[in-house]
Amino acid sequence: ESAEGQKMQEIRTSLPAHKQKEALLNAISKNQVIVVSGETGCGKTTQLPQYILESEIEAARGALCSIICTQPRRISAMSVAERVAAERGEKLGDSVGYKVRLEGIKGRDTRLLFCTTGILLRRLLLDRSLQGVTHVIVDEIHERGMNEDFLLIVLKELLLHRPELKLILMSATLNAELFSSYFGGAPMIHIPGFTYPVRSYFLENILEMTGYRLSAYNQIDNYGQEKSWKMQKQTLRKRKSQIASAAEDALESADLRDFNPRTRDSLSCWNPDSIGFNLIENVLCYICRKERAGAILVFMTGWDDINSLKDQLQSHPLLGDPSKVLLLACHGSMDSSEQKLIFNKPEEGIRKIVLATNMAETSITINDVVFVVDCGKAKETSYDALNNTPCLLPSWISKASAHQRRGRAGRVQPGECYHLYPKFVYESFAEYQLPELLRTPLQSLCLQIKSLQLGSISEFLSRALQPPEPLSVQNAIEYLKIIGALDDYENLTVLGRNLSVLPVEPKLGKMLILGAIFNCLDPIMTVVAGLSVRDPFLMPFDKKDLAESAKAQFSGRDNSDHLALLRAYDGWKAAERQQSGQEYCWRNFLSPQTLRAIDSLRKQFYYLLRDSGMVDIMEKCNTWSHDEYLIRAIICSGLFPGICSVVNKERSISLKTMEDGPVLLYSNSVNAQEPRIPYPWLVFNEKVKVNSVFLRDSTAVSDSVVLLFGGTVTRGGLDGHLQMLGGYLEFFMK
Ligand code: ADP
Ligand code: MG
Repeated sequence: ESAEGQKMQEIRTSLPAHKQKEALLNAISKNQVIVVSGETGCGKTTQLPQYILESEIEAARGALCSIICTQPRRISAMSVAERVAAERGEKLGDSVGYKVRLEGIKGRDTRLLFCTTGILLRRLLLDRSLQGVTHVIVDEIHERGMNEDFLLIVLKELLLHRPELKLILMSATLNAELFSSYFGGAPMIHIPGFTYPVRSYFLENILEMTGYRLSAYNQIDNYGQEKSWKMQKQTLRKRKSQIASAAEDALESADLRDFNPRTRDSLSCWNPDSIGFNLIENVLCYICRKERAGAILVFMTGWDDINSLKDQLQSHPLLGDPSKVLLLACHGSMDSSEQKLIFNKPEEGIRKIVLATNMAETSITINDVVFVVDCGKAKETSYDALNNTPCLLPSWISKASAHQRRGRAGRVQPGECYHLYPKFVYESFAEYQLPELLRTPLQSLCLQIKSLQLGSISEFLSRALQPPEPLSVQNAIEYLKIIGALDDYENLTVLGRNLSVLPVEPKLGKMLILGAIFNCLDPIMTVVAGLSVRDPFLMPFDKKDLAESAKAQFSGRDNSDHLALLRAYDGWKAAERQQSGQEYCWRNFLSPQTLRAIDSLRKQFYYLLRDSGMVDIMEKCNTWSHDEYLIRAIICSGLFPGICSVVNKERSISLKTMEDGPVLLYSNSVNAQEPRIPYPWLVFNEKVKVNSVFLRDSTAVSDSVVLLFGGTVTRGGLDGHLQMLGGYLEFFMK
């Protein structure tokens, strides 16, 4: 055995889970369901599935067992599988494999499969009783993702029919009782862990220690508003948010009396609605100057602010010698080479700084972290059922999350945690985060319930651990009826059945299907891939005008973000063929990484549609239509009923949707720059509620397109559609 292999075995036996191995296996053999909890990093994910596999092999049942372990994120399914295969001295695809959306490595002898929760749900679609599966392990259940909650309802039912099937639920050290009682008091096993003490500093301490001064103007938030807390006081008071009133009380009370007046003054300029990059930078410099070794883990809200901060830090001398700093990003769409660097210990004298999303809270453990910087927010989708509007906003984390983040600093030695918000804000955090099922639209989920033939949607969801609001359920069902995926009696239509096998949102699936039907798949795959990856157009703060006009050129006179995306992609492909892709991106403010991701997703869509029988002949590729009228029509049909009316005023346009009334466009939409739009409608991809309702990515469409494409393929065919359009027209005439 290699030295590296030996070292890995030593690490394995030193993990806290190792001491509990017998107890765990014993509990599994005696019970159908158990709940395992333990500190992050104690070895649940990498070890427990292996223990089961090893004990089955020892009992000569190796060839019979089939263990499925679900992960909420594709990146963890892949990296854990890779790690476990390495620990076993095997290649991926031998006894250990993985499967994530559109990708996987799995062999004939694979007995332990790591997959995303979505993949297991999809498998249930084809095989309701999970034939041949002996163990299901659902990991990270404390995150309370929608898929996990959904899976638990299905598994609870399945256990009745499959008495020999074992279910193991794994969670960080929170709330194990909740899951245990959902499964009729299943035994709980706790893996005690050891962490070093971590010292916490809140914003007031940080300001006092670093001498950094917040000013009323230096914190520009994500939406370009330059308002400090002080300046917003009036609005805040009106909003009466919990945080705002807590903040006011604390400042006015004596809590902060012991602090330097400068600190108090500075604190009153703090803007709770923004993440201050300069503040983060200053804290990082402060830590680096302390000359204490150890990696720094910074919790940010998402991919976008991680990248912006990374840019700022890289172009800035504050952090000192750039060759002494290893700056890494850790989020759901990083590539695997970057991922390896995250786990590696850097050379002596080099400071590793990892900018991470809340993914690093529990599902990934970076062992050499000594310092944690916590911005206190995470991007979460929440859902406003009354207005039927999903909101994607950075919101305050829970106390449980703050605790997890803090704990990341104490893995190897005593650590330090810098919370970039005042203590009184922490005090006002909720204990736990609201489960996703209660804060997101339920459309895809409802489609799944129907295609799994789980009976009435409402009845099924009422059996959840914490059931969603009936109004949210009704909204989702109504949407599926409007797009033609369900009929009036809530039965799956042909379209609905086809949509449920495509691993994309219903509206995107609908575009793909129509693209295939109308022989227009090539451009439609680009549009759909673009919508499901992320916007490839970059809008650097200081070159916004140039970036906007670059994007506007791609849209031309077509008033469409989607056509702009399509042309930018096609242009990039052409430039790539002449080895000038990089320069093309540079000139047009495009992200090459995003374009590459779109490119690879497109390929995967194609294989998927081919395998599901929706497109047949390979040669068709060459004869695919690029008719822009048709493309626009298919986009319209996918996005319908996401539609708003356009009224051209003298110097501006006004937009209105039926549900929200007046709405605005995000400034990076090509249509936002137009003084007038020569079409009566805009279909949009997404609406987001910030202070007003904003529309992202829109395409202008004519009456006839809305009539024909919003219609024939939606509810009740043309008749029903005319009726509905009548309703829209009537509404806007008023
Ligand atoms: P848990 O699931 O209980 O949080 P894990 O099983 O994920 O713990 O991790 C156990 C240990 O293995 C941790 O110390 C972690 O840092 C280490 N580890 C996990 N994955 C990797 C990897 N890909 N490379 C290096 N170390 C890893
Ligand atoms: Mg884990």
